[in-house]
Amino acid sequence: MNSNNPENSQVCPICGVSIAEDGQVNFSNGKPGTRARLYARVCQYTEKPGCINREPELIGELTSQDGYKSGEDLSMPSP
Ligand SMILES: [Zn+2]
Repeated sequence: MNSNNPENSQVCPICGVSIAEDGQVNFSNGKPGTRARLYARVCQYTEKPGCINREPELIGELTSQDGYKSGEDLSMPSP
């Protein structure tokens, strides 16, 4: 059964991105991705409580393709 049913999706109230029950992440634009990708691109930068994509077990392993850049020279915005 295809679980690509909106009723089974959760929307992260912080990131505004919906995550299907099977873990497919539907970005507001662009191709669907994974929780890892969502985390790498959005959730890791959100400092607010309430983000639903913060469980390492659900996110799984981040790969270099998940971020905009691979690795170490990501510059974090300073507060
Ligand atoms: Zn989030």
